[in-house]
Amino acid sequence: MSQKIRLYVDIPLSAGIAIEPAPAQCHYLLTVMRQASGDQVALFNGEDGEWLARVEPTGRRRCRLEVAEQLRLQAAEHGPALMFAPLKRTRQEMLIEKATELGVAHLEPVLTQRSVVERLNRDRLRSIAIEAAEQSGRLTIPTISMPGSLDGYLGRRDGNGLLYVADEQRTGVPLAGALAERGAGDFLVGPEGGFTPEEREELAGRDDIVLVSLGPRVLRAETAAMVALALWQGVLGSPP
Ligand code: SAH
Repeated sequence: MSQKIRLYVDIPLSAGIAIEPAPAQCHYLLTVMRQASGDQVALFNGEDGEWLARVEPTGRRRCRLEVAEQLRLQAAEHGPALMFAPLKRTRQEMLIEKATELGVAHLEPVLTQRSVVERLNRDRLRSIAIEAAEQSGRLTIPTISMPGSLDGYLGRRDGNGLLYVADEQRTGVPLAGALAERGAGDFLVGPEGGFTPEEREELAGRDDIVLVSLGPRVLRAETAAMVALALWQGVLGSPP
């Protein structure tokens, strides 16, 4: 049997309630996914765990979801935050999707001196994160901040634990070893143009920051983010 469709909904979930999803969501369920009366889907809202619901078509693009029993209790999902310099559209969307699959709790765009993209469509990025959370079985959606400057971000960081900064100069310690030795932390990946010498100096001078290498080749920023998160998952592991 194929895996149950999972949908994120933005309302409290409990046994016996009925939800009337937006026409677009009903269209997706009824027409795209060919769900019929009585078919089962799984719902989650980031707070109340996962619930079984039955689909009831009520019109051409209208439907009702009748919430039955709870399938999973809400559980904390302890992922790192990922800070990244905004990328061009396709790469940006890939970064959001893969980072969500790999378990980030928070995504924060930071503008660096060599950032070329300064604007982000936060709603679009959030809908990509929601889709990735639905597909990957997460019970939470990562939060996404408005873009801010690197300096502003660093100024707010005090007391927030370690920050592993992916440095394309590859003079830093290998990330896997650093994670094994120093434990959990957040991640910062730079823009396609890399960090400027002043930025690197500022980053290197802080004791809450570890400059790390992701191997012998220069990676695209979204690849660097995926590698960093895969190493985090491999070394500090999310439980199965
Ligand atoms: N234009 C730069 C490369 C930037 S790569 C140059 O030619 O040197 C984009 C970002 O990915 C970097 O800022 C860094 O955060 C990360 N990155 C890429 N390859 C990396 C590596 N081997 N080790 C650590 N970080 C890397």
